[in-house]
Amino acid sequence: MDLQAPVQFVKGIGPQKAEALAKVGVRTAEDLLLHLPMRYEDRRSFARVADLRPGMRVSVSGEIAVAGLRRARRLTIYEVRLDDGSGRLKAVFFNQPYLKETLARGKKVVFFGLVEPDAMASRLLVMRSPQYEIVEGDERGGVHTGRLVPVYEKLGPLTVKPLRRVLAHLAEQVPVGLEDPLPPELRARLSLIGRGEALRRVHLPGDDDRLERLNAFRSPGHLRLILEELLLFQLGLARRRSGVRAERKRAAFEVRDAAREAVKRILPFPLTGAQKRVLREIADDLRSPHPMNRLVQGDVGSGKTLVALLAMVVVLENGYQAAFMAPTEILAEQHFLTLRRLLKRCPYRVDLLTSAVKGKARAETLARIASGEAQIVIGTHALIQEGVSFHRLGLAVADEQHRFGVLQREDLRKKGYDADVLVMTATPIPRTLALTAYGDLDVSIVDEKPPGRTPIRTWLRAASERREVLDLVKREVAQGRQAYVVYPLVEESEKLEDVKAATEASAEWAAALPGVRVGLLHGRMKSAEKEETMGAFSRGEIQVLVSTTVIEVGVDVPNATVMVIEHAERFGLAQLHQLRGRVGRGAASSSCVLLAYGRLSEIARARLDVMVSTEDGFAIAEKDLEIRGPGDFFGTRQWGVPTFRVAHLIRDRDLLERARTEAFRLVGEGSLPEALAHFVEKGGWERRFGLARVG
Ligand code: ADP
Ligand code: MG
Repeated sequence: MDLQAPVQFVKGIGPQKAEALAKVGVRTAEDLLLHLPMRYEDRRSFARVADLRPGMRVSVSGEIAVAGLRRARRLTIYEVRLDDGSGRLKAVFFNQPYLKETLARGKKVVFFGLVEPDAMASRLLVMRSPQYEIVEGDERGGVHTGRLVPVYEKLGPLTVKPLRRVLAHLAEQVPVGLEDPLPPELRARLSLIGRGEALRRVHLPGDDDRLERLNAFRSPGHLRLILEELLLFQLGLARRRSGVRAERKRAAFEVRDAAREAVKRILPFPLTGAQKRVLREIADDLRSPHPMNRLVQGDVGSGKTLVALLAMVVVLENGYQAAFMAPTEILAEQHFLTLRRLLKRCPYRVDLLTSAVKGKARAETLARIASGEAQIVIGTHALIQEGVSFHRLGLAVADEQHRFGVLQREDLRKKGYDADVLVMTATPIPRTLALTAYGDLDVSIVDEKPPGRTPIRTWLRAASERREVLDLVKREVAQGRQAYVVYPLVEESEKLEDVKAATEASAEWAAALPGVRVGLLHGRMKSAEKEETMGAFSRGEIQVLVSTTVIEVGVDVPNATVMVIEHAERFGLAQLHQLRGRVGRGAASSSCVLLAYGRLSEIARARLDVMVSTEDGFAIAEKDLEIRGPGDFFGTRQWGVPTFRVAHLIRDRDLLERARTEAFRLVGEGSLPEALAHFVEKGGWERRFGLARVG
């Protein structure tokens, strides 16, 4: 049987259903086979009617002896008696008048269900809406009853019973010796059964399959299919990584004395141990003849910007340029200001290129970039996407990469750049996601915060408790501190009515806090206005800054000690964590108030409770992943995580690690079997797992 045959030709499907199935991504017989049951039920135990007791969940086989359809109020009730020679069992079905034909008198059937006492006649037992199966010839049914029965989630037009019928038939046709991408030695090493056997057994479990293992997705069939998927995925990452390692870049950089001198002039304070370690890892990459492809992960406020800046300085001192890319123009502007400030005692030329830079100024900036006069260029990913022409780009830094597909060196090369790549993210990524989304990058972790930080206390409050929040803000302001109030508006796409709401909110706060200087910041303001407002807040001239999420990343005002987040329920955990990271930057103790509106769902409540209970970004990310599941996690697609068909990132963490070890070993030893090498290199991998990318 050809697993790649169009699903239309699978028995029981046909052109109409095939069309509907295509809409849910099922095009071939194999696609259908990979729709695994969500659980299994043990329907193997048969009982004689004479032995039935209330509470038993069993299969009973016999003949329909009596049958009748009646109406009671708005219900139609189909009632039958099944006779197996030892006695009679009543069964009732609701609103399925067509059963009159299917379960007509004289039919041989198997029922599976819960045995209950009948309310009408005290000695009679009844099954309400049992699973049923018509038996032809063979006495014991075998698809819906009488075995370990798979239960499926609805798939397009197919509900559980038709699915079970179609898949039972299809699985039976899969040859046990089906062609297998995993060669026998590899299967033996990993104790995996063959592909054909696995596909059969997950749909048609045999008597040596245990119910608990099936339901835990750890039966031999499941283990085989899940590991296969994870292994194939990791092989691609392993190969990509070894490919980058084997490449040679245009120039290996030297760490020169001039760079060391510059660094001393830049540094306002000693580096933390973690910053030093990460910088060393980056410097090693820069010095290496092979290109750098490195992810720096570090919680908000761990000081990644400085690390990136120092790396850029090394490159500049080698006569190359560096690009620093932020996810939004506002952030790019903020980085521009920060870097210019840090570099004020250094001779480097820093340029900003955003869409706000227009006309003559833009032409001049582009000319400086092309001539190499512009040494550090700050902008958004448009810098790369639009193929801005650099004289000699040596290093591309992408900040806050979780918002996009991951910038890959390969993508840079496609645009004609040959540069080292440094990707930074402030969102701690759970290990499982890091191994998938960024599995082909080297990872450095800044796991230490600069000294002098105090813990942030976090409260969850209902909107009705705003009075208390106002009092807190008043107290802090009276002590010379400052506060942020954040509204959940979408940056850059901020709509006019949202801006209006923020404007009104700031007026309300101003009214509620007489004598306090309240400022407003939103994405619709002109850059100059924003800069002025931010500047005023930094200098303490504005005491309470009401803002949209534009302040999310990169803002740094150590005197701010209160963060009030309005409509906290609308934010993702990662974003809340980012926002909270804006306070707690000075010596004074800080607070974060999560103001929630309306009745919270259980999930919303659980998520906000996580924020209250911990400040550890990694713990928050892990919890978020657990509560929401990988599909929802910050919109996983943005992370460049592919959708797996059988594997599940939380349930299968252990298998992911195993697959990764195995894949990197195979690629590392150069012992990749022919068929696998073919899959990885000839486009199969890209089609199956190709990641969302920048550019
Ligand atoms: P993030 O990792 O979130 O990008 P930043 O680079 O914005 O963090 O740094 C957060 C704050 O910590 C900034 O004010 C920065 O100047 C400060 N900082 C960075 N490194 C150190 C250090 N080693 N000692 C003290 N403060 C530091
Ligand atoms: Mg940062």
